[in-house]
Amino acid sequence: MRIDVLTLFPEMFDGVFGASILGKARDKGIVSLQAVNFRAYSGNKHNTVDDYPYGGGGGMVLKAEPVFAAVEDLLGSGEEAGSPRVILMCPQGQPFTQAKAEELSQEKRLVFICGHYEGYDERIREHLVTDELSIGDYVLTGGELPAMVMIDSIVRLLPGVLGNESSAVTDSYSTGLLEHPHYTRPASFRGWEVPEVLLSGHHSRIEQWRREQSMLRTLQRRPDLLEEAPLSDKERRWLEQRRLEEQASAEDAGKK
Ligand code: SAM
Repeated sequence: MRIDVLTLFPEMFDGVFGASILGKARDKGIVSLQAVNFRAYSGNKHNTVDDYPYGGGGGMVLKAEPVFAAVEDLLGSGEEAGSPRVILMCPQGQPFTQAKAEELSQEKRLVFICGHYEGYDERIREHLVTDELSIGDYVLTGGELPAMVMIDSIVRLLPGVLGNESSAVTDSYSTGLLEHPHYTRPASFRGWEVPEVLLSGHHSRIEQWRREQSMLRTLQRRPDLLEEAPLSDKERRWLEQRRLEEQASAEDAGKK
């Protein structure tokens, strides 16, 4: 996979692209990551990439020309450009999710555009990008941090990136549920014990405990996920029983 990020602050990506899983994926040649300063495409001698908004008002607006020029230079134009995903970082965009990370991890080529200032010329949205994505309902100074978040979650899904020590398959959201709790040695820490089943060496019981914990966590923390979660009828009945028990104990606690 090749990923280009158009940004006014390419130096922000040095550490992130060079360290941990992204650094390893890059070293193994699984992904090529470039941060490209689109100021180089300003086309004017002052290297200006922003301008005042038509109609007045506060804040500056990112101009269309440098962003179009940078994307077209990277991708070529016409037939040879194919149809790579060009993704605009945007607080008004579709929420970025694990499902979106999985979808984008199937692509060969991705271009991320990081905004800055008050916003960008609307023609970038209308005529250049294929996707507008947001990392949450809050506003950051620029699109660099959102791009890093998305790139990290996409690249860790590429085959060969994660070793056996960490697998994306059971991660929260990948299974439609939140992941079960983890413990490591010592078995007893300050009097807090590891659940007995995990020490039993009984694989099927351990698997069942993990599955149940995963369902319970999702019920307690993100019940909204359960509607779409791939659960058997038996599991749904088991979960409904837990839900009723939790409701009864909450009502009891309320009466005391
Ligand atoms: N005035 C814009 C608005 O209200 O929608 C916000 C502009 S913000 C200060 C500057 C840039 O940061 C945006 O153009 C976008 O690229 C990026 N950005 C900010 N928050 C973001 C978020 N939650 N998700 C993705 N990108 C974001």
